[in-house]
Amino acid sequence: MATKQIKPIFSTLLRPLQNHRIRIIRTIVQFVMFGLLSGLIFGLARIPMLLPIAFPTGGPFSTVWNAFEALQYLLTYWIFPYLALSVFFLFGSILGKTTCGWVCPFGLFQDLFRLIPIKKKRVSRPTNKNLSKIGTTILVFILIMSFIIGITFNNSGVKTTFGAGKDMPFSTIDPSSTLFATLYYYLYWGMQSASFGAEIGQWKFLFFLRIIIFIIVLGLITVYPRAYCRWLCPTGVLLGLFSRFSIFGLRINKNRCTSGCDSCEKACPIQVPILTYDKDVTNKMCINCGECIDACKEGALKLTFRI
Ligand code: SF4
Ligand code: SF4
Repeated sequence: MATKQIKPIFSTLLRPLQNHRIRIIRTIVQFVMFGLLSGLIFGLARIPMLLPIAFPTGGPFSTVWNAFEALQYLLTYWIFPYLALSVFFLFGSILGKTTCGWVCPFGLFQDLFRLIPIKKKRVSRPTNKNLSKIGTTILVFILIMSFIIGITFNNSGVKTTFGAGKDMPFSTIDPSSTLFATLYYYLYWGMQSASFGAEIGQWKFLFFLRIIIFIIVLGLITVYPRAYCRWLCPTGVLLGLFSRFSIFGLRINKNRCTSGCDSCEKACPIQVPILTYDKDVTNKMCINCGECIDACKEGALKLTFRI
């Protein structure tokens, strides 16, 4: 076959890869990061590092600390969580929510759920914004609860009232803990011993509450891409406080935009109103995933350092 004929066939075959270049690179990075974060499977050691991601510290293979869990844990022992807060500040103000888009294992899990061939739905812009307030409410509630437990501990030195949630209240219902820790432990112990019923029995209510919340989240993320990140995740909310001012982020060059085109907004899993920004897209929900960049045929968008 002549070279002239091979060339178009070759470029047709490669087109899907070119059209999703960032998504492909990001997926590879997400899997590599998941491998490193679950490194105990491969015999990697745990390292003393806090990351702003949804991945349980107490998971069977976890190699790092979850910064939001550390924050709760310290508050409940009446210790000011300066290190955990610094992690949110540093990551948020430098990289924005890049860890959400590229590192967080629960983010990867949600991206994989998007592959289920069920028609995805979008919500209106105000609804998207209003639903994100649920995450803020969860964050405030968890911080107040940790604070109250901390005061009790400070006064009495004991922590009993809050039962299983006495150290990290959110972790008792956190869907990422349910996925990466609880389900694993229950299944593992269940298969290892005949006492599975007894194990569940001790924490029956909490176990079923966890499972119900997890199933609701699964339903949501199947229909609404990254619904957990958009509307519920307290780690994402905390990062978002700083990501508006981040040094790294998305930038649009509107001179390149074609009139009437909104391909970038349609491609955005988070439904960020990209076209309402004139230059830097400083939306606190943006996870720097780059899917809008893949979708823009005019090269009007880029992830860049904004200094
Ligand atoms: S917002 Fe999403 S990606 Fe970010 S930490 Fe939460 S679950 Fe992970
Ligand atoms: S605006 Fe672009 S980079 Fe930000 S979340 Fe949406 S698709 Fe990803």
